[in-house]
Order: sequence, then C-alpha cells, then structure tokens
Amino acid sequence: MDANICSRIAQLYDASDVLVAVYDGFDRLRFANPAFRAAYFVEPDEAPTWAEIMRRNHGLGRGTILCVPDFDFWLTSTLSRRGKTGFRAFETDLHDGRWLWMTETVESDGWMLCIASDITGIRVEEREIRQDRDLAIKASYTDDLTRVANRRFLTARIEQILADHRAAGQSGCLAVIDLDNFKLVNDRFGHQTGDLVLQDFANQIQGQLRRSDSFGRMGGEEFALTFPDTSLEHARLMLERMLTVVRLSKPLANYPDFAYTFSAGLTASRVDDALSDFYRRADDALYRAKVSGRNQVQACDEPVGWAAEAQ
Ligand code: GH3
Ligand code: MG
Ligand code: MG
Repeated sequence: MDANICSRIAQLYDASDVLVAVYDGFDRLRFANPAFRAAYFVEPDEAPTWAEIMRRNHGLGRGTILCVPDFDFWLTSTLSRRGKTGFRAFETDLHDGRWLWMTETVESDGWMLCIASDITGIRVEEREIRQDRDLAIKASYTDDLTRVANRRFLTARIEQILADHRAAGQSGCLAVIDLDNFKLVNDRFGHQTGDLVLQDFANQIQGQLRRSDSFGRMGGEEFALTFPDTSLEHARLMLERMLTVVRLSKPLANYPDFAYTFSAGLTASRVDDALSDFYRRADDALYRAKVSGRNQVQACDEPVGWAAEAQ
C-alpha cells in the first residue's frame, strides 16, 4: 500500500472513536489506537497479551464486565474458542457504562484484527435477548466439566482442516489424546478427584496452544487437537512438549506425588480424506501408542494412498 495512504490510515485511527487493535498469533497486542487503549487501559509503549489485559482489568474492576466466579476457569474456556474461526461478532459491555459491538477477523496464521463500535444507545430493549442468545451459542460449543471446547466445536475445526486442504492444498494435523490408566485414577481417588485431573489436563494443554490450534474434549477422558497448516513433524514436537508439561503436573494438593500421563495418536490430512478416514488414522495411531506402553505420541505412518491400495 502507498506510504501516504498508510500514514493517513494511521492518522484516522488515532482520531477515531472506533476501537481498533491487532493481536499476533500468540495473542499479543501489536497495535491499538488511542480509543482502544483508553477503553482497556493499555499504555502506548506496552504490548500485553489479551489474557494479561483481561486479567489485570478484571482485578481492578475496569474494562470488560465479567460476571464470573472464577476468572481462570473463564479464561481457559474463552481461550479455547477465541480466534479459532475466521470472523466473529458479539456485544460486550464495559465498566464505564459503554456497550460495544466487537468484531474479530482472524488470518490463517492467527493474527487478529479487532474493531469495536459504541452501540450504547442502540436497541437497548432487545439487549438481554441478544446476550442470552450469545450465551446459548457459547454453551453449545463448551464442555461442561473442563470448560474447553466440546466435540461439536472440534468436529467443525477438523472439517475445516479438510476443507482447507481441498481448497488450498494446505495439509493440517489431527491428534487424538487419551489419558493413561484413568480408571485407576478414579478407583484410587474417586470420581470427583478424577474430574479434577481432567480439568488440570485441559488447563495444561490450553496454556500451550498457538491461536490457530484448537483443543477440546471429545468425551470421557478423550480429547482432540487440531493443527491447521502444520507439518506432521512440527505437530509431533508440540505434542511431545505437551506431554513433558503434563508429566510434571501435580494436580492433587493432597497427593503431591501423584502424576499422570497421556497417549496421543497423530495424523496429517490428505486431500481425499473424509472426516471418518482422518479420525480413524489418528485413532489407529493412538491405539499403537497404548499398546507400545502408553505415555507417548505415535504418528500415523501409513503411506499416502494406502487406503486406496487396500481396497
Ligand atoms: P488406557 O490407558 O487404556 O486408556 O486406560 P483407561 O483406564 O484410561 O481406560 P478406559 O478408556 O477404558 O477408561 C476410561 C475411564 O475414564 C473410565 C471412566 O470411568 C473414566 N471417565 C470417563 N469420563 C469421566 C469423567 O467425566 N470423569 C471421571 N472422573 N472419569 C471419567
Ligand atoms: Mg484412557
Ligand atoms: Mg478412553
């Protein structure tokens, strides 16, 4: 773009009452105009992450109004869905009394443009209905126990990887994860404590994701991870790192020696994959991780074309 136009846009953003911000793929604020910085109390020389902005404003009772009993629980849940789809629009209210219409536009590498307009005076009487609708949409994509994304949300992300592969030739990866010997955890400590371990696992993984990756609970103690536009080798490295972090976690305060592990099966998308083919390969690799001793990552090593040759 012409340099004159760029500086003109920067000048207009400086003057505008519309809030404009750009986050990078790690959710760090890389640009914010004065209106955005004033609403969220960000200094011009700072580059906090979105989570840091939310945390400190929540602590000081300013910025976004969050009616949540447990901030960290809310953060995990929100991060599991934030910026995973190309475009999102929603309403949000600020402690200063303003009501905003916020849009988020996300590039495939995770960079995000946020634009928010003040709609304080618009259709106030329908606001409650709109908020209820947004809460219902959020609930339909969230797992009740762990607050991360649920099977419905993950299935859509897996479909998206296959659609991107067909449309643009970009291969992505899918991992299916199952906690090891989880029955023993329940038998030893009881089901409720088992639930705490599941919640800990969700938090540990959620904290290590890139924005473009999605993570969710498929059911029971089985989870799935999607890595769009990522090689099998890179996805495997990320999973190995996650396994290292999980092995070190000590989620039960009363049992400081207790630790747990997971097994993961990983596969890369193929252009002619149906959802069931893609998932089956990851599941077969998971089975190999289990029979090879658990506590490890196995990648599908079927050569491309294997399915066709086998028919
Ligand atoms: P493996 O390493 O082969 O996966 O062994 P496992 O014991 O984890 O095997 P399996 O998949 O058969 O057992 C899963 C257990 O997970 C059984 C079930 O009681 C428990 N589980 C499933 N959902 C929940 C849940 O929501 N909370 C708790 N606490 N336990 C659950
Ligand atoms: Mg298991
Ligand atoms: Mg299982």
